[in-house]
Amino acid sequence: MSSLALFDPEIFDLINREHWRQTEGLELIASENVVAREVLEAMGTILTNKYAEGYPGKRYYGGCEFHDQIENLARDRLCRLFGAEHANVQPHSGSQANEAVYLSFMKPGDKMMSQSLNNGGHLSHGDPANISGKYFDVTPYGVDFDTELLDYGAIEETARKLKPKLIVCGASAYPREIDFKAFAEIAEDVGAKSMADIAHISGLCCTGLHNSPVGVTTFTTSTTHKTLRGPRGGVIMCNKEEASRIDNAVFPGMQGGPLMHVIAAKAVCFREASTPEYKEYAKQVVKNCKVLTAALEDNNFRLVSGGTDNHLCLVDLSDHNISGHQAELTLGRAGITVNKNTIPRQALSPFETSGIRIGTPTITSRGMKEDECKQIADWISRALKNMDKPAVLSEIKEEVKKFCLRFPLYPEIRMT
Ligand SMILES: *Cc1c(COP(=O)(O)O)cnc(C)c1O
Repeated sequence: MSSLALFDPEIFDLINREHWRQTEGLELIASENVVAREVLEAMGTILTNKYAEGYPGKRYYGGCEFHDQIENLARDRLCRLFGAEHANVQPHSGSQANEAVYLSFMKPGDKMMSQSLNNGGHLSHGDPANISGKYFDVTPYGVDFDTELLDYGAIEETARKLKPKLIVCGASAYPREIDFKAFAEIAEDVGAKSMADIAHISGLCCTGLHNSPVGVTTFTTSTTHKTLRGPRGGVIMCNKEEASRIDNAVFPGMQGGPLMHVIAAKAVCFREASTPEYKEYAKQVVKNCKVLTAALEDNNFRLVSGGTDNHLCLVDLSDHNISGHQAELTLGRAGITVNKNTIPRQALSPFETSGIRIGTPTITSRGMKEDECKQIADWISRALKNMDKPAVLSEIKEEVKKFCLRFPLYPEIRMT
């Protein structure tokens, strides 16, 4: 980046500092990852110079012959990766992918059901603060308060009474496997379409570590930047019948020109996700999360639903008299990044929260395994038990830094 360093030293310096923040700290945000160098390379190219409104073979601008081939590769690879009939790789984000599905067949005021935000759902599933919640008549469902698992019986009962047009499943903070078939059957029974949003778990679904909704629910949406480890963006998969409605909803319905440098990077990501090495990565993500979870339990932290099946866990802090917000700040001082998160039946406000969410995709991409996860759990509990001792937190931060330097993001990239 020598040209950037000369032309815009302020931005170069900030990128550099962020590089070191990522390198020296423990990133445990469940929705983040470290993309392959090849993904970065595809994104930083001249593909960004071109307008390619439309789809391969049907563009509104000339000169798209290479863009057509790139987008076709991305679509074909995604279809093969998940066994999908049709794929749209143009959504700029996961939220826009969801919005496009809604707009493909629903009208403002139509009824839909989705997992509530405070039970692990996502804003774009109809939260009142999001456009989806303003346009549609949303009935939320949640988890059973005793088991902290999705209550399919209750969801079915609500669906029968409500007769929604769409049932959305998928979550941002649910540590257990989701039964997509059950959702699809409930939807079919009540004459609704179903949408599974696998933004968080797509890397587990395409490798067979979690059941996949593709071909089971009417629509599947995902981000490409979470467990899937690609560039920031969204995708939609569906069968042939829904294909043209979905494509029209994305463009011209929701978006203008596609980000072709990002679509090229998505294609690289889909290629990577189909390799045996990626499958090993995904397995290690789940293994690491189980080890981390068990070690936290050994340190007397209660896990929501008693554990995890995937890449994340939710820690209930109510027995420790700490809020999620305080825990997030405390761990931050110790060089460990997590996010506060609401948990089922929590007593505190959504700004304080009673829990934190911890995920293993990033640390696993950096090469950390079971032993490292035990060490990380020890640091987390030591920090949370010494919240009011800045010296202890600084000590942990130094240890974390030394440890993290052994796992560089990109061993071959040396910034100043
Ligand atoms: C992250 C996430 C999204 C949104 O992705 P953005 O790219 O941030 O818009 C959508 N749905 C779920 C379930 C998510 O976890």
